[in-house]
Amino acid sequence: MEIDDMRDDEEDRDFNTFRLIDKEIKIVSLISKDGDSYVVKCPHCGHIIGVEGEDSTEVRGSQYQHKRCGGWFQVNYTARFVKELE
Ligand SMILES: [Zn+2]
Repeated sequence: MEIDDMRDDEEDRDFNTFRLIDKEIKIVSLISKDGDSYVVKCPHCGHIIGVEGEDSTEVRGSQYQHKRCGGWFQVNYTARFVKELE
């Protein structure tokens, strides 16, 4: 019973959960723009984050690490540009 209780506590801490998967590189298939910067939705935690890149050809195919959750992702070469990310 004590072990189950501890596990429940850890699930509430997003940081711990994401540390377990931060080595996995996930693929992002949608990109958007916020002002002058390209933005994507982090596939690990769901936050919208800005990514470096002069244009969409530079963003596509690039790998980034989301500092906040530590998760790596790669923007798909065929990532679709959308006006707004959900
Ligand atoms: Zn993230």
